[in-house]
Amino acid sequence: MAKTMTATMRAVAVTPMRAGSARQVQLPIPTVAREMAVMRVLEVGIDGTDTEINGGLYGEAPPGSDFLVIGHEALSVVEAVGEGVSGFTPGDLVVSTVRRPDDCPNCRAGESDMCLFGRYTERGIKGAHGYMGEYYAEAPAFMVKIPPVLRPFAVLLEPLSIVEKATYQAWKIQQRMVWEPKRAVVLGAGPIGILCTILLRLRGIEVHVYAKSPPDTLQGRILRDLGASYASVADHPVTGIKDELGQIDFILEGTGNSTVAFEAMAQLGINGVLCLTGVSGGTSSVEIPADVINLQMVLGNRLAFGSVNANRRYFEMGVQHFQQAERQWPGIFERLITRRVPFDEFMSALDRRPEDIKTLLTIAAE
Ligand code: BGC
Ligand code: ZN
Repeated sequence: MAKTMTATMRAVAVTPMRAGSARQVQLPIPTVAREMAVMRVLEVGIDGTDTEINGGLYGEAPPGSDFLVIGHEALSVVEAVGEGVSGFTPGDLVVSTVRRPDDCPNCRAGESDMCLFGRYTERGIKGAHGYMGEYYAEAPAFMVKIPPVLRPFAVLLEPLSIVEKATYQAWKIQQRMVWEPKRAVVLGAGPIGILCTILLRLRGIEVHVYAKSPPDTLQGRILRDLGASYASVADHPVTGIKDELGQIDFILEGTGNSTVAFEAMAQLGINGVLCLTGVSGGTSSVEIPADVINLQMVLGNRLAFGSVNANRRYFEMGVQHFQQAERQWPGIFERLITRRVPFDEFMSALDRRPEDIKTLLTIAAE
């Protein structure tokens, strides 16, 4: 390992379920075990789950620990590999997946994102420390190698993997019939909404995005450059979307607002499919037009499904789509990175501002 390394490193941790508990901790630098690699973290993306965790609504410390190192979207460089590791060498760029399997049939088949027993862990979220520190150790099975040309935006691979899974599943499910989707609606113009729009546009689908921010924002400009329409729910409420557009074949709910999720069900077209991706940590209830929704779901063979996490197959799809989308819309991914915050200011990185798309915590320069 490099001479500059010291015995301890800085990381950002929370006390799970305690609001606003994010703080800097000092931890031992992981040593290089035979079958493992040690990664030096370059930058970590912040998302809604991190906000929920720091809000005391979600998250779980590893067994025996009273704190949780957060961060689950990291671009890193391999610092050292154990003797038993093949396929990776120091200097390789890596994004690691988030979930670690238990012994259920899905996990054993490499689909921990479909875990049946629920005893999985998630780095930075549930029962395992995350990546928001200077180093972490990982096994090659969970490391995805990043081509150097993707360096400027590869930190977006984890959120991209989430929408890779969501769209892949929707298209797979719809093989239940003849399905020729033409029009999609995306709810939310955060990273999930925009990344999903990119994948849908690559599939040649007409995309309409609805979100809170006004049309004249960076989000709106990026979406229009992708050939999608963008409208603010301030003057185009979700409950009126199908009257505005007509037949809607696919809806992605990417706001994390459970009320919006239920409103979206009533907007689906015949044979349409709705994918819910938001993790809502609260306990709010709403009144819904249950008869109307039930009747529509039945009479139109409509379908709603939830999708969480992503296994490495979806990360690998993301690596391909990064390159394809960059050819079509050069520079598109870098435009999503709206704030880079140095390590010492991690508190400011964790609070979300309306103009933020993706905020990164910079851990090391190179
Ligand atoms: C992460 C997923 C994770 C989910 C639920 C999301 O923010 O991207 O990997 O499964 O939270 O914990
Ligand atoms: Zn499992």
